[in-house]
Amino acid sequence: MTRSSEEAAWAELVATARRTVADGLVVGTSGNVSVRVGDTVLVTPSGVPYDRLTPHDATGVDLDGRQVLGSLVPTSELPMHLAVYRADPGARAVVHTHAVHATAVSLLVSELPPVHYMTAALGGPVRVAPYAAYGTGELARAMLDALADRTGCLLRNHGTITYGTSLDQAYDRTAQLEWMCRLWLTAASVPGHTPSLLTPAQLAEAAERLRGYGQHG
Ligand code: 13P
Ligand code: ZN
Repeated sequence: MTRSSEEAAWAELVATARRTVADGLVVGTSGNVSVRVGDTVLVTPSGVPYDRLTPHDATGVDLDGRQVLGSLVPTSELPMHLAVYRADPGARAVVHTHAVHATAVSLLVSELPPVHYMTAALGGPVRVAPYAAYGTGELARAMLDALADRTGCLLRNHGTITYGTSLDQAYDRTAQLEWMCRLWLTAASVPGHTPSLLTPAQLAEAAERLRGYGQHG
């Protein structure tokens, strides 16, 4: 990892963490963000308001969790972040939030019903990992099980975690997940009606189409 790639990645990480607050996905110092640059994982420090972070606060660990950069204490959720990078070598960024609609859904069901085709953008119906105390290896293990073949899951009575090949992609997956949870809660709360759901075939078709979504060439 060169000095300039590290500085650029830290700036992008801080901007993403600030966005989680600005967009209402977390309150205060809740949540955390990481980005992998080579074999270093830059992470938000624990309990530090994101608007106070400067370029001098860059905090990084290796894939075993040993601190290799900075002096601030890394996020308490290192076990979850590192578990994602170890499980999927393609993972480059992880976003954890306490988004309110997603957290509400985590109290109600063990899987978010497939109410929208963006379910396919997360690999299929999003599971809820059983509750475990924040910052523990037990929570990281529950998360990994819930993430099988998915790029995001809910954490019961806690929040969300998503990952991707960039900070933008990981962040967008969190925003889409929170939006789908809000959609389902809204539709499911209309008395006398049951939301219609997508079939596995419809989700597979959406997944195929999403591979060609957006600008190309
Ligand atoms: P940190 O401030 O240690 O990152 O913890 C916030 C959080 O969301 C724990 O689950
Ligand atoms: Zn949390």
